[in-house]
Amino acid sequence: MPLDQETRRALAARVQYYRDLGITDFYRRTPRDLPEHSESDSSVITAEEVQLPILSPPATDKVSALVAIREDLGDCTRCILHKGRKNLVFGVGNPDAELMFVGEGPGADEDEQGEPFVGRAGQLLNNMITAMGLRRQDVYIANVVKCRPPSNRTPEREECDTCSPFLLRQIEVIRPKVIVALGAVAAKTLLSVNDSMANLRGRFYDFRGTKLAVTYHPAFLLRDPRQKKETWKDLQMVMQYLGLKPSPTADTVKS
Ligand code: URA
Repeated sequence: MPLDQETRRALAARVQYYRDLGITDFYRRTPRDLPEHSESDSSVITAEEVQLPILSPPATDKVSALVAIREDLGDCTRCILHKGRKNLVFGVGNPDAELMFVGEGPGADEDEQGEPFVGRAGQLLNNMITAMGLRRQDVYIANVVKCRPPSNRTPEREECDTCSPFLLRQIEVIRPKVIVALGAVAAKTLLSVNDSMANLRGRFYDFRGTKLAVTYHPAFLLRDPRQKKETWKDLQMVMQYLGLKPSPTADTVKS
């Protein structure tokens, strides 16, 4: 029995909802799982009928997959942060990046320009990237929340929970070898833990088939530059894993 348009659309929306929550593996009932099912029972929708063709075809490449996520965000009003934003800050960089940085949320400069990490903290992040022997355009950069919190306050847990499914989809498309969580909000959101930065940093975590490292947020390092050498240790751990050699200018990050 073919599904009508409305049912197909409803099912597609439900599957997309699960994907937004980060659930990507779907199991379906087979006729054997349905005790009441008989060959002649036309009221039962068989497994063959409830399958992925109900979705729009998967994006064929990473760029279109990222565009699709951006389109799903749309003119987002899912949480209160939309009220104060000038620009939604989606993410930037190489869709094939081996290294992805995840920050907390846009600040004033990012809100103005629609790009993550373009202010003072962004300048320091750029220096960190350069020190690792990479260029900004080699990596991918995104935030947990895509809209600037008022007065740069820390995003609320609910705001992170509402927005992070889109980040998870970005990660799923990019599939970096390493994610660096910058600061407590990114670390706690991605790892679903509540621990101090001092305890969380300094090691790799397995995150959905990717290595994840936690380090201090560049904005924190601007306030407490003594912690830069700890961050440099975290970045060196990442560099070793990725086979990267430090650039000769790495000193600007270490001290
Ligand atoms: N801080 C963040 O966490 N993200 C940005 O994009 C800028 C500053």
